[in-house]
Amino acid sequence: EYGHDLQRRKVSETHYVGNVAAVANHYNARPEVGVEGREFSPIIGLKKFNNWIKSVLIGKFAHRSQGRVLDLGCGKGGDLNKWKQARIRLYVGIDIAETSIEQAASRYQRMRSSFDGYFYAYDCFSKPISNILPEQLQMKDLYDNVTMQFCMHYAFESASKARMMIENVSRYLRRGGVFMGTIPNAELLLSRLDALPEDDQELRFGNSCYFVQFTERKHKGIYGHQYRFFLTDAVEDVPEYVVDWENFEALALEYGLKLVYKKPFHDILQEEKETRDFGPLLGKMGVVNEYGESAMDEDQWEAANIYMAFAFEKFR
Ligand code: SAM
Repeated sequence: EYGHDLQRRKVSETHYVGNVAAVANHYNARPEVGVEGREFSPIIGLKKFNNWIKSVLIGKFAHRSQGRVLDLGCGKGGDLNKWKQARIRLYVGIDIAETSIEQAASRYQRMRSSFDGYFYAYDCFSKPISNILPEQLQMKDLYDNVTMQFCMHYAFESASKARMMIENVSRYLRRGGVFMGTIPNAELLLSRLDALPEDDQELRFGNSCYFVQFTERKHKGIYGHQYRFFLTDAVEDVPEYVVDWENFEALALEYGLKLVYKKPFHDILQEEKETRDFGPLLGKMGVVNEYGESAMDEDQWEAANIYMAFAFEKFR
């Protein structure tokens, strides 16, 4: 239907608008260590927990089988296996970091997948993805799911980027299809900022595995409220943007997407840890050991809850 050849297209010319060059360079430079290498990460417990969260989202909201998936900001393709488990038939991954896209494509080639995979290096927040997708991958109602994991917040640099992002998300998603994602919890970030002592000049909080640093104490509108984020062995001091939830939800509604799920990561664990579908996965994915003890220390556990997950259903 889509042709069985892996399609990989590199953008010969990448136009960076705003801060994306810093973001793309950062992710391009991160080494691919493979599954074995990953075990040596000082935050391996947190990485496994984040993977479990994504599996929960996919388990809850993926089309039952034969689904078609668009993954924006797909990175190195870390979710390819999770989507394989969901028995999809088509996966299209797009990311601004060319090196990551190459790694995603080669991971796909190695995995002996049962679905078609297409990979593109492209900035999904500045231009329509119709510029890069072949016609058969940009048909109306084509996708059952659009997923954006740990990346949507980069779009909230400006109104125009956030709009371009949501336009790209919604345009080819079918009615009844689900858009799912994970982002930092703005309410939590801003309440931690507000809780800093008045004479604090650094505007920084965190612990041994992460920090968040704001440049201004004042809450700054709904777009462009920048902070710097650092997470050991994952994100090295990259500019990110607060996602004002009310504004995001209103924006999504304009594009035919209504909220069906919104939860901080800690609450997801609380709610799902004993369910038949996701409880056993905690052990299988190494989030807990055979005695049920967490693979995360206190600091990783605190870092985990910076994030929240969401899902929207397309209603028109
Ligand atoms: N979704 C992947 C995952 O869960 O493993 C990768 C997450 S990584 C923290 C964030 C990703 O967002 C990076 O791969 C980065 O290159 C991508 N990204 C940032 N800005 C982007 C943009 N404008 N267009 C496409 N991808 C972007």
